[in-house]
Amino acid sequence: MADVKSSITTILSRRRRSAFERARLDWEKARKDATFAALDDKVRSLSVQVAYNAASGREDENSALLKELTSKRDEWLKAHKLSITPAFTCPECEDTGRRANGEVCACVKRLFNELVKNKSRGALPPFRFKDNAVSSMDCAQQKTLDKAYSLYKKFADEFPDTPVKCLILSGNVGSGKTCLMAAVGNALADRGYTVCFTTAFRFNKQLLEYHTSDLRVKAHILDEFLDADMLMIDDLGTEQIYKNVTLEYMYDIFDTRLSEGKSVMITTNLDNSELNDRYGERIYSRLFNKRYSSYKRIIGSDLRMIKR
Ligand SMILES: [Zn+2]
Repeated sequence: MADVKSSITTILSRRRRSAFERARLDWEKARKDATFAALDDKVRSLSVQVAYNAASGREDENSALLKELTSKRDEWLKAHKLSITPAFTCPECEDTGRRANGEVCACVKRLFNELVKNKSRGALPPFRFKDNAVSSMDCAQQKTLDKAYSLYKKFADEFPDTPVKCLILSGNVGSGKTCLMAAVGNALADRGYTVCFTTAFRFNKQLLEYHTSDLRVKAHILDEFLDADMLMIDDLGTEQIYKNVTLEYMYDIFDTRLSEGKSVMITTNLDNSELNDRYGERIYSRLFNKRYSSYKRIIGSDLRMIKR
């Protein structure tokens, strides 16, 4: 998450700097024109005078003239397609990330979502349905894998109008489950849906970060898990468990998403009874629900070994 935060800071300051830089370049260009230079000089000297008089509480007969000359100068700039005031990407916060009242600006939230979206696509292994290399492999789990392929392909094609919302893919190491999940994720991302792909390790780390964070920075930490159209957690069961901390947040995330009809996909080395033992009845019953869950278990040889 720290990398997203620092990317936002970098992007904002780059935007702000370039807005000032563009304004300065436009001003230099405009100053080369005698009409503009004369108007500009007059506006500047009158501004100082009017401001000075206003500060000392005096009326100034020049303020009307200043207004007139300023609008003339603006017209000249408009006609020449120049701007000497910085054109910020976000006028609401002038690219500082904070509005005048101190609130975090909406543009920060937009940036955050964009960055997380790109990041999750970046984290998705580049596996696709069309690279169905498994079919050509001579392995014990081929039949099961092929079945899972058609099921998940159908899910990806029909998403989000599918009765299945929670996909659990269980299997031993190297059974091909992460590739299969990535194929679903990439298919959804191709169709414009936001996919948050994370490992159980990173997921858990972020839940802990949320738990220990200051209230003011808490707000966005879990957003990517809640906002994405699809949340994918790879290798559930390998992470450290903190019963009253991470399990609580994990339940909240699954519960919120599934209540809202949003999808979750999980790969795990554990079978359903091991999942029940490890995560408890509450999480288990949220994940294994007859109405919206699909559970597949693939047992077979390690495909990575076969490939080699
Ligand atoms: Zn803004």
